[in-house]
Amino acid sequence: MEYATQMDAARKGIYTKELLAVAEDEKIDKDELIKLVAKGQVIIPANKNHKCLKPSGIGTKLRTKINVNLGTSRDWTDLDMEMEKVKSAVDMGAEAIMDLSSCGDTQVFRRKLTSECPAVIGTVPIYDAVVYYKKALKDITAKEWIDVVRMHAEDGVDFMTIHCGINKETARKFKRNKRLMNIVSRGGSIIYAWMEMTGNENPFYEYYDEVLDICRQYDVTMSLGDACRPGCLKDATDAAQIEELIALSELTNRAWEKDVQVMIEGPGHMPLNQIKANMEVQQAMCKGAPFYVLGPLVTDIAPGYDHITAAIGGAIAATYGASFLCYVTPAEHLRLPDVNDVKEGIIASKIAAHAADIAKGVPGARDWDDNMGQARKELDWEKTFEYSIDPEKARNYRASAKPEKEDTCSMCGNFCAVKNMNKILDGEIVSIFDE
Ligand code: SF4
Repeated sequence: MEYATQMDAARKGIYTKELLAVAEDEKIDKDELIKLVAKGQVIIPANKNHKCLKPSGIGTKLRTKINVNLGTSRDWTDLDMEMEKVKSAVDMGAEAIMDLSSCGDTQVFRRKLTSECPAVIGTVPIYDAVVYYKKALKDITAKEWIDVVRMHAEDGVDFMTIHCGINKETARKFKRNKRLMNIVSRGGSIIYAWMEMTGNENPFYEYYDEVLDICRQYDVTMSLGDACRPGCLKDATDAAQIEELIALSELTNRAWEKDVQVMIEGPGHMPLNQIKANMEVQQAMCKGAPFYVLGPLVTDIAPGYDHITAAIGGAIAATYGASFLCYVTPAEHLRLPDVNDVKEGIIASKIAAHAADIAKGVPGARDWDDNMGQARKELDWEKTFEYSIDPEKARNYRASAKPEKEDTCSMCGNFCAVKNMNKILDGEIVSIFDE
């Protein structure tokens, strides 16, 4: 039987090879999974032209996934370096790579990604349109914006961030309700400026059905962009953010009518005490469509440490409903991340995702920690490294300060509580100073 998208297949009761792979990977019953995909509560982004894809499921009941943003910029055009970052991101367990290239021949890098990279690939066509047409922003036509979506779909991109929620109505709300940081989304600011300069409706909103037809043809998942995501705590959960979410919930329904898979993008900067409510509102309004959060960063005062502010917010967001975390690196707000920044950002996001999976009771998530607990109890340092999220760092730390007694570490030496408790419970004598 023929099908157009993973959602269409699920609704027709077809078990695609991608769905079966996800079911096996997640250890979830395939009959349960197919129902979730049919309802839109799990997505399997899998463009028909991305032949080397290792499919991942994103959504309820599955492990929390992470995305890594990469790509060239005017100040950084080295494609080999970007491919090196891609390989290390995949090796470290990133399930998705977003190519945010905004300089040079972006199609070369994009096609290289979809022909060589097994991770789910995402893009933001708005950035690319500006580079591709090489003309004044206001002169790009509505048709040209949509043509770039088609080009990315043909190139094999699995999901695209499309900023179609910032329509004229949302823009009016944004203007009436002043914000401290205005619009901080790159794509959102571009399309807002285009709307202001041309007086036209957002083309991705006006011609949304055409965008959906392209997505249906190639099975591209829509990542409904949040142009009005708060860029500082003061703007969190304000009228513009909520107005856009209302628009995104309507656009979700329209996508589902055409069997197009959808996820919703979310905040942003947000005080810790507002995260749970935001996740619940999104889940209720968008009928459980997977939530893809960009942080949330729980404080604004930590440039250089924003992988930590985002990991705190990401862990809470994922605990209360988010399914997909966009990594944030220590370079956030400061510069394009280098290889080490990428690594730090991935590790921080993986920790957040895993912590949430434990809290949500994702089957098997806790096993990793229980294995680590056992290794620590046995003072089995090799196993401790093996179960570390970053074995190399753990090994280097221990090697940098060798303990006097090999079975302990230099933190407490002979006062090692673990060793002393093991001994006393085994009926041995414990002596701190005499050994
Ligand atoms: S020495 Fe202290 S920190 Fe190190 S393993 Fe023993 S109890 Fe843990």
